[in-house]
Amino acid sequence: MLATATLTAEKNAYEVALENFDLAANALELDNNVRAMIKYPERELTVSVPVRMDSGKIVRFVGYRVQHSTQRGPAKGGIRFHPNVTIDEVRALATWMTWKCAVVNIPYGGGKGGITCNPKEMSMGELERMTRRYASAILPIIGPEKDIPAPDVYTTPQIMAWIMDTYSMMKGYPVTGVVTGKPISLGGSLGRNEATGRGVFYTIRSSCQNLGIPFQGARTVVQGFGNAGSIAATLMHEAGAKVIAVSDTRGCIFNPRGLDVLAVVEFKKRTGSVTGFPGAEKITADELLALDCEVLIPAALENAITVDNAHTIRARIVAEAANGPVTPDADRIFDEKCVFLIPDILCNAGGVTVSYFEWVQDENHLFWDENDVNAKLEKIMVRSFNDVFKIHVERKVNMRLAANMVGVGRVAEACRVRGLYP
Ligand code: NAD
Repeated sequence: MLATATLTAEKNAYEVALENFDLAANALELDNNVRAMIKYPERELTVSVPVRMDSGKIVRFVGYRVQHSTQRGPAKGGIRFHPNVTIDEVRALATWMTWKCAVVNIPYGGGKGGITCNPKEMSMGELERMTRRYASAILPIIGPEKDIPAPDVYTTPQIMAWIMDTYSMMKGYPVTGVVTGKPISLGGSLGRNEATGRGVFYTIRSSCQNLGIPFQGARTVVQGFGNAGSIAATLMHEAGAKVIAVSDTRGCIFNPRGLDVLAVVEFKKRTGSVTGFPGAEKITADELLALDCEVLIPAALENAITVDNAHTIRARIVAEAANGPVTPDADRIFDEKCVFLIPDILCNAGGVTVSYFEWVQDENHLFWDENDVNAKLEKIMVRSFNDVFKIHVERKVNMRLAANMVGVGRVAEACRVRGLYP
């Protein structure tokens, strides 16, 4: 196996993203001229976002939009509202979006945005004023042909609707294709809400087929029973796998005979958490990760599996529904233990793929039914898995490096044929 990037206390997500690029570029023996053109963000914008709070006081927030690449098409990527947002985090997420869009071969580059704020402490009115002011500040660089934002952590379809409305008011006509993840009533796509979990499910099914692991009865553990995790769990359950444990921020539940996932979804809807679900045992977060199982799906946040707990993992397949849940040091331990990793830029790419479908439908003013959306998504996810798996086998590299090689290789090829302007 080729080397894995190293994450140390001094290294932030962007430094890791750059190091992963170098590993892929080295494995591809990329020309230095091409590296110089595709490695770093093309454009970065930092904006002041003054907002009149409900108290009458004006507070200045800081927002960012980074376009890492537009080599293969307009920049694409979410907007995050979170207290920990920094320019380096946004750069890292934008860089990963470039490789992710290339892995699933949709005609986009990569971008990301964010505002350093705590939306949980803000009223709806404050959130709307902040969103609209931010949208007008980044307006010169976004648009359906330039850069198309979407929801990310703590941004919702409603927030996308405010961005669409602000952009449209400034242009003087409605522009639905400026953002994706919109409400269905405003040009959103059927199937978008389930797309990430559905894509996770397709990549796990392909992994089981290729590794000779029986899917029927495959014991599955899900950390983070939110949008991505609960949909992936539901589809695994419906297709015959056995979901034995799930968790959320309040706790973890376990039943070795298998949980009735649809009942857990209903229970969580009613009570706000999976904890207390009847007929299941309560276990700790560490015990959940260390369960003997075929499939582990980290679907919560970054850095869930690190050098401290990677050695406890007994799953044969780890499917990264979340972005960055397994650190580079943990990757190396997985290589030693022969854990099969489905990397985030492949595993959770179903979300951006159906965002692409949404944009296509908006631009054509013609909408598809849900079966069409799901069938097209399945085709793309299965093909992308096969592309990455082929490199993994032929080049004897781990799946993370294989996915980065596919992504970086496609962007490099676009760069080569476009050439350098002027
Ligand atoms: P979400 O907020 O719907 O769900 C997150 C879930 O994780 C919640 O149930 C929360 O309680 C749980 N959680 C948080 N911390 C936890 C912890 N320490 N232990 C156990 N559970 C914990 O968010 P989501 O949209 O499902 O996103 C989850 C991850 O998937 C994120 O990393 C996100 O970037 C990634 N992702 C999501 C999409 C998408 O379309 N939703 C697309 C690509 C990537």
